[in-house]
Amino acid sequence: MTAVTCITSSEDATVALGRRLGALAAEGDVYLLTGDLGAGKTCLIRGIAAGLGVAEHAFSPSFVLVREYHGRLPLFHMDLYRVADHAEVAELGLEEYLYGDGVCAIEWADRAMDLLPLRHLSIALAYQCGAEDVRVIRFACTDPRHETLLTQLIAASGDVASWN
Ligand code: ADP
Ligand code: MG
Repeated sequence: MTAVTCITSSEDATVALGRRLGALAAEGDVYLLTGDLGAGKTCLIRGIAAGLGVAEHAFSPSFVLVREYHGRLPLFHMDLYRVADHAEVAELGLEEYLYGDGVCAIEWADRAMDLLPLRHLSIALAYQCGAEDVRVIRFACTDPRHETLLTQLIAASGDVASWN
């Protein structure tokens, strides 16, 4: 497994990091995001959308479970926060997105981890104690495609996130 952590110090930096990720994204990529409310999952995905070339005004966090955006590749943004339970996620029929021709970015992925692809990039966002605008973002993956992506992301984002 490859795992690395970075720190962003503002919302803008997290969006910029997402933008770099979106620019590097490829068909079939799956990003599983976890972290408390307000940790920055939606901010990061807003950046991913921008990096994929989705028009800025098109991106709106919403109450819909799956939103599709059109950039260089389709982006499927899912938010499992409001699903009642595991069975409800199973009924959603997410497979067509998860194994489709686009990029999937899923908030609250820990609510249904065993229903989601093993081949994914895990992105865990957390608050930093005592620092309101700082977020610790841990990336982890086990498959070659997402490992390559992570290496490229680190190389491309040193100016917006500090990696260690
Ligand atoms: P989530 O989707 O994880 O619930 P959001 O992305 O909707 O979180 O909200 C993150 C909130 O935290 C926003 O209000 C944003 O302004 C604030 N924030 C402060 N610092 C950061 C940071 N470094 N990265 C991302 N968001 C930050
Ligand atoms: Mg959110």
